[in-house]
Parts: sequence; C-alpha cells; structure tokens
Amino acid sequence: MNVSVLSPEKDPMGLAIADFHQSGRANLLRVFSSQFDEDEMPVSQLFRTESQMPAIERKALEMACGSILDVGAGSGCHSLALQQAGKEVLAIDISPRSVEVMQHRGVRQACLTNLFDERFCGSFDTVLMLMNGSGIVGRLENLPLFFRRMKQLLRPDGCILMDSSDLRYLFEEEDGSFSIDLAAGYYGEVDFQMQYGSMKGEPFDWLYIDFQTLSYYAAENGFCAELVMEGDHYDYLARLSLRG
Ligand code: SAH
Repeated sequence: MNVSVLSPEKDPMGLAIADFHQSGRANLLRVFSSQFDEDEMPVSQLFRTESQMPAIERKALEMACGSILDVGAGSGCHSLALQQAGKEVLAIDISPRSVEVMQHRGVRQACLTNLFDERFCGSFDTVLMLMNGSGIVGRLENLPLFFRRMKQLLRPDGCILMDSSDLRYLFEEEDGSFSIDLAAGYYGEVDFQMQYGSMKGEPFDWLYIDFQTLSYYAAENGFCAELVMEGDHYDYLARLSLRG
C-alpha cells in the first residue's frame, strides 16, 4: 500500500482544483482507465455546496459528530459545510495543491497526509469518506489494513461514514442478467489515471464495493456495517462501527 503524498508535478486533480479556485473555471480533467472509455470529471462538482450535494452526502454531514476526520477532502466542500454547522473537522488529502486550496478557502485544519501513513495519528468520533469514498482503499485485499487503521484512529464508539456504488449495473445484459467474469477478480476494482492539460498523474487503484461485500469484510475485521441510505444510482451510504 502506498503511504506517500503526491508530488506537485504529478497532481492533475490538485492543479484543476487550484485553477478553479483561482479563476472560477477549469480546463478538462480527463480520466483514463483500462476498463472504461476515456471520461472527464467536471471540476465544478468538486466545489459543490451543501445544497448541491446528493442526499446521501447531506445525510452523512448531518450524522457526523464529535471530532471528525474528512479523508480525501479535495477542495474541502464537506469540511466547510461541517464547519458552518459548528462542527470540528480535520481535513486530510495527499494532494499538496488541494490542501493549499482548502486552507485558502477557510478550512481551519487541513493537513497533507496519506490516511495509510502510520505517522498520522489521532482519535476521532467520525471518519468521513465521501464521493465513492471506498475508492481510497484501492483494492479488496487492502480492506484488512484499512480496518486496522480505523481501529487506530477511531474512538471506541466512533464510526466511519462511507459512500460507494455497486458497479454491477455496468455488466447488466438487456435481459436483466449479469455477465460478470468471476475469474477476472472483483468487478468493483478499477484503475484510473488523470490528466489536466499536459500534467498526467500516476495510475491508481480505486475500489467500488457493493454493500454486501463491504459488510462481509467489515465483520471479518471486527466492524459492523449498517446501510444508512441508498442513492438513486446503485450508490449508498454505509455506517461502520466497531463491534462491542
Ligand atoms: N471528498 C472530496 C474529494 C474526492 S476525490 C469530494 O467529495 O469532493 C478523492 C480525493 O482523495 C482526492 O483529493 C485525492 O487526492 C484524495 N486521496 C486519495 N488517496 C488518499 C489517501 N490515501 N489519503 C488521503 N487522501 C487521499
């Protein structure tokens, strides 16, 4: 598992976020994957306000309490909304430019660190992972390490609020059956690479996980998973807490 932060020369999303922050607009943030066709990510979406957020994200903000850790905070949209609600939040990200932008936008505690870097420690009531937040775990095989980190960072009665999507709809046939190649590994394990202008980042793994698989891994690693809310497109919000 990579525990480092991004170099400023290989941080296309951070550059896009910095551009949008400075000028109110950004060029195309291109997304490549070996599994999908080229796509683009609308940079303005990373600056969504609370009222522009999907219902599952608003629900997560409402549930977040105590000392909150916003993991992979990006432009800081969730951290800012939490601060406005009078809540205490620490935002972390591996993108140097994103952390700078968060500080400029008024996120009071924003820190350049990788969630998996054991030098980063703390004690939180809520760990927030939003916008397919499970992605940061990368692959199914990293889940035991992820839950171990969560045990280090969570207070005994704390919880993780994480959203994800079940990608099985991508494999749905016209007759409603699914053509999933089981030998190819778990269908939610995706690789991405981003490009902004001429800046290209390194490829990275991103995990989309269905709720049932998440619950199974949670139970194996001492956590209990609760389905809080389903979104309108195979997405959902889960609450993961330590089993007593
Ligand atoms: N949560 C934000 C941004 C989502 S994009 C939003 O909803 O708008 C995912 C973010 O996670 C990126 O900013 C990326 O730099 C960050 N990230 C990826 N891996 C990380 C890790 N291991 N630790 C901390 N941040 C990470």
